[in-house]
Amino acid sequence: MSDIPLSSPDISDAEIDAVAAVLRSGRLSIGPKQDLFEQQAAARCERSTGVAVSSGTAGLHLVLSALGIGPGDEVITTPFSFIASSNCILMVGATPVFVDICPQSLNLDPRKLEAAISEKTKAVIAVEVFGNPRHLDTIESIARRHEIPLIEDACEGLGGRLNGRPIGSFGRASVFGFYPNKQITTGEGGMIVTDDDRLAEMCRSLRNQGRATNTDAGDRVSTANTGSWLAHDRLGYNYRLSEINAALGCVQLDRLDEMLTQRRRVAHAYTQRLLDHHDLILPCLGDDDPDSSWFVYVVRLAPEYDRAARDRVIAALRRHEIGCSNYFPPIHLQPFYQKQLGFSAGDFPITESISDRTIALPFFNQLDETQIELVCQTLSVMLQRERLLLDDDAA
Ligand SMILES: *Cc1c(COP(=O)(O)O)cnc(C)c1O
Repeated sequence: MSDIPLSSPDISDAEIDAVAAVLRSGRLSIGPKQDLFEQQAAARCERSTGVAVSSGTAGLHLVLSALGIGPGDEVITTPFSFIASSNCILMVGATPVFVDICPQSLNLDPRKLEAAISEKTKAVIAVEVFGNPRHLDTIESIARRHEIPLIEDACEGLGGRLNGRPIGSFGRASVFGFYPNKQITTGEGGMIVTDDDRLAEMCRSLRNQGRATNTDAGDRVSTANTGSWLAHDRLGYNYRLSEINAALGCVQLDRLDEMLTQRRRVAHAYTQRLLDHHDLILPCLGDDDPDSSWFVYVVRLAPEYDRAARDRVIAALRRHEIGCSNYFPPIHLQPFYQKQLGFSAGDFPITESISDRTIALPFFNQLDETQIELVCQTLSVMLQRERLLLDDDAA
């Protein structure tokens, strides 16, 4: 049978060799690979500094902590994202304030942002959902006008650009995640990039158990004979990234452009095959735009379909061993958000209506034309079935 996964990492011999070299070196944490990975990532985003961390979620948590955001503060964000972009607000004890999305870009709607800003607003977290950078510049200028820091949750957008600026260059700090389904992976891992040296130093301290850092020598000064390894200036975490993961990240970052080309090829192949399908709305990330960075390929059923129809299509694709998923259920309707924060259905109607009808299709670098054809044909058959059901209901 087919067995096409939803995503698959792209690991070459170069990554395997780099990881083996670290294992042979004996230096497995806080070493030269971390420094190199940070420099490479910062350069790619046209930022002065990078701080490697153990996950994208850890990076978001550190940035909010380093900005001193806590109980009583509000942070504005989107309800249409992976849950980590909102959970990090709860982790520091602050309150997430959601703003509904733009139905084209699926990103936080800048036209609705200003009305959500209050005295208590201490930050805005914006996400390039599925890799789409639209509105980030507008959101940045609104945040700047109100003197509120913008944090870019860039976890889905590595390598993309907007008006010549890289994703990862917007706002006070940007955070990437390197889970195996992202554009590049370190297994688990993340990266904060910023031009704010003080913020970066605070993040370095917080990722390393609250130890003091020395700007010149990085974290390594503490491991030397300074006696400071057990001195802790503040409550910190262990959010470090190992040398093994960092070495993997360096090679993956070297190969980023090659991988973005592959992702663009796959996205283009899907779009060409599905373009004329009346029951589908295709992603408008700018298929001809060489600057786009595809995270996933998410189609949407036409508005006349409901969530039950979408769920049937997903179940049927999975029965044919085609990996797919409902990216993303609205964050505010997650059970604990409803229970503990009092959100309910109807709060963010655009997010809810879109989220009921999305299907993420298999999407990874090595996906070939035969597999793409099979996914599209199977999807078409499932949609024909749904069309008949719909017409029956109308009759
Ligand atoms: C993947 C992702 C994260 C979290 O990254 P992890 O490395 O899995 O912690 C955060 N925000 C968004 C939007 C993501 O897609």
